[in-house]
Amino acid sequence: MLLDIIPRLLIGGTLAGVVAGRASRRGQLTLGGEYAAFVVGALAVIGGIGWGASLAVFYYSSIALSRWRAGDKRRRSRSVLPDVQIRSGWQVLANGGAFAIAAPVWIVTGWWQAGLFGFGALAAATADTWATEVGMAFKAAPRSLVTGRPVVHGTSGGVSAYGTAAAVVGAFVMALCAVVSLDVPFDLVRLEAVILGGLAGAMADSLLGATVQSRRWCDECREWTERRVHTCGYRSHHRAGLAWLTNDVVNAVATVVGGATAVGVGRL
Ligand SMILES: [Zn+2]
Repeated sequence: MLLDIIPRLLIGGTLAGVVAGRASRRGQLTLGGEYAAFVVGALAVIGGIGWGASLAVFYYSSIALSRWRAGDKRRRSRSVLPDVQIRSGWQVLANGGAFAIAAPVWIVTGWWQAGLFGFGALAAATADTWATEVGMAFKAAPRSLVTGRPVVHGTSGGVSAYGTAAAVVGAFVMALCAVVSLDVPFDLVRLEAVILGGLAGAMADSLLGATVQSRRWCDECREWTERRVHTCGYRSHHRAGLAWLTNDVVNAVATVVGGATAVGVGRL
């Protein structure tokens, strides 16, 4: 077993180091983000080439989607989201941590639950990221999942028709990755489990975002924002939700919900 893992760790570490280093030089990751991406990538490849490739699909599709209509998105979400979207270490771990831990567990124990958990978690991260990027690319205002009222683009807990469609496609793509990576013949049960995991995770993300996630307020403009310093130059302050329940914590919880749902459905 160890003889399997050590070469994989070396290959994964090398690949992850190259990818993380490049992303960092391009200004896509902070230094902490670079370290986190290195660890997540190295662990994922222990699961096999399929696991590493699936992580790459998530990462590069997210980067590509974030560039699509980037100017429009920035204009629409400017009062809510920070200008530069450099991914921090916590952000990387929140999205990829559960997947990265599942990979070695799956290899060492051979538990199918670990495989489904990992891909359900990554499907949740993918569905949520695609939904956000695609939803913001269209003019139609998202609506709060709880109140149904229109909210500013980029507001946590806002959902839209385009975003929801993107979440379904994102979860489906990750389900295909799971079928390829988990060394099983084409299997409808696993496909369905990962799709439902991804959607449940994205739903949990929006639900938490619309209810208990930390929300900041600008007194000057009387607007909600996720910026610490608002576009007007004044500091925003925590006003609603749980202060410690940041976007990163919500993302991490959403991936765990996605993984757990995939295991639950896969067991049926
Ligand atoms: Zn303001």
